[in-house]
Parts: sequence; C-alpha cells; structure tokens
Amino acid sequence: MFGEFFDKLKDGLAKTRNSITEKVSEVLNLAITIDDELYEELEEALITSDIGVETSVYVIEKLRKKVKDCKIKDPAEIRPCLKEVIVDILGDDENKARSLDIPKVILVIGVNGVGKTTSIGKIAATLKDKKYKVLIAAADTFRAAAIDQLEIWSSRAGVALVKHQEGSDPAAVVFDAVQAAKARKVDVLICDTAGRLHNKKNLMDELAKINRVIKREYSEANLETLLVIDATTGQNGIQQAKQFMDICPIDGIILTKLDGTAKGGVVISIKNQLNIPVKYIGVGEGIDDLQEFNSKDFVEALF
Ligand code: GDP
Ligand code: MG
Repeated sequence: MFGEFFDKLKDGLAKTRNSITEKVSEVLNLAITIDDELYEELEEALITSDIGVETSVYVIEKLRKKVKDCKIKDPAEIRPCLKEVIVDILGDDENKARSLDIPKVILVIGVNGVGKTTSIGKIAATLKDKKYKVLIAAADTFRAAAIDQLEIWSSRAGVALVKHQEGSDPAAVVFDAVQAAKARKVDVLICDTAGRLHNKKNLMDELAKINRVIKREYSEANLETLLVIDATTGQNGIQQAKQFMDICPIDGIILTKLDGTAKGGVVISIKNQLNIPVKYIGVGEGIDDLQEFNSKDFVEALF
C-alpha cells in the first residue's frame, strides 16, 4: 500500500522533479569545489524552479550553514545536505493532518477553479474509508453547476449532501448542514464555498457569516479552515494565499494539481513564507488522488 502511495506521489511530482533536480544536478555535476559561485548557481536553480526568491535565499543560507557545520568539502555531498535542509524547512506538519478531533467542521475556501469541490470529494471518500461519518454542505450556491458537481462527488464518495437552490444564502446552507450533522451524529462536516476573491468585501462578509453560524450553532465542533491553492499558479498562489489570510484565519493548505506542473517547489515557499501547514496535496483528478502531506516522502519523491 505504501509503495503504491509513494509511486503515485513520485509520478505526480515528475515534472517538478525534472525541473528542480535537473537544474540542481547540472550545477553540482560541474562543480569542483564548494565556493560562493556554486551557492549562487544553486540559488539561481531554485529560483527558476518556482521556489521563490525569498525562500531560495533562505534555503541556500541554511545549506551554507549545514555544509560548514558538517565540514563538507566534496560537492557530491551537497545533494543529500540540500535534501535535509528542505525537510527541515518543511518540518513535520504531517502529524497534524492525521489527528482528527471529532466532531469536526472543515471549511474549504479558495478562488474558483483551484480544486475545492474535487478535493472535498476526495477528502470525503478518504474519511469514509476510515469509517468516519461524513456530511457535505454545498455552500457554493453561486452557480447551479457547482452544486451539481458536488452532488456527483458526494455520491461517488458515498456520503450525504445538504444543498439549497442556486443563489440561496450560503450561511443558510451551513446552518441546515450543522443541524443535520448534529441530528445524525456526523463526525466530519465539510463545507464547500464560492471563491469570488475579486469581490473581497462580499467574500469576507460571506465567510464571516458562515463562521458565525458554525461557532454559534455548533460550538462543540472543531473548525478547521483549509485554503485550496492550485500549484500550477506557482508563486501567484502565494499572493492569493496572502489575500485570503487577510480575510479569515487559515489552518492549513490543500495544494492541488501538483501532477500537472513543474512548480511543485511552491510547497517550500508556502511553508517558509506563509508558515501555514500543507495538509493535503492533489496529484490527479481521481478520487484516490489526494494525499496527506508528508515532508519526508515529498522530498524523497522530489530528489
Ligand atoms: P473549484 O472551482 O475550486 O471547486 O474547483 P474544481 O474542484 O471544480 O476543480 C477544477 C478543475 O481542476 C477540475 O477539472 C478538476 O478535475 C481539476 N483538479 C482538481 N484537483 C486536481 C488535481 O490534484 N490534479 C489535477 N490534474 N486536476 C485537478
Ligand atoms: Mg467548486
């Protein structure tokens, strides 16, 4: 099982791996001594792999220190050292994703098209597999298609859905879903939302209202707000996350579409620049293509 899981991760990260590893290898293969020039070239390699300037500089700073502390002289030893530095930066957030305090409400936010609905379907299926009782709320009421899409995912995952008509108040959907969750003794309620970031004031009001409903009606539940970011947008995803952080507190990130991009290095910037744990990563469109993020596996798959 672990092998299959890891293979999928490796496949998903193929483009990112090619991008980062090839660039890093090119630099290291040509290096004869460890000097400033080598560090500069490595930094350049990271920056062009969508790790972002700030984070790349930080990685190289850490690498220099580690090389010095470990008294490394041979450029061939830089690679494992770089791996360790990245694992250190990513930390061990993976344990947080595994502990599930029930009853729980997961509020999923993010701009249109990043993969909120798909990720909700995948999470619902995963939790159902683990024998949790799951309910989904269709609080993206903006388009009828969004509700239909979530309904398809809920039946695919085999979990119940609470929905209203298109255009109805998202907070009213959440209200009904909370009542249903309490009555049916649901373990995890997952709420989809609309992500119209271009209308920041509206979105802020909408999310505030949803939050109020959950806190007032379901105070015993543990609320976790997860922001979905599309990895193919690279460093723009970081800017998007910063905008959402102004709107409401975020407990974790779901990074989707890692399979379609060479920009997976953005994981390192998320951790370093936003300091929000990446909880899940999406490595495909199928129901099994969401994984709990584990930094060691991630870096292992990357190098
Ligand atoms: P939403 O608007 O945020 O709810 O986004 P959707 O869930 O509707 O997803 C938008 C598109 O992204 C869909 O075509 C999904 O199949 C696709 N998608 C979502 N997650 C992933 C992923 O991890 N990998 C790939 N390749 N596609 C994904
Ligand atoms: Mg959606």
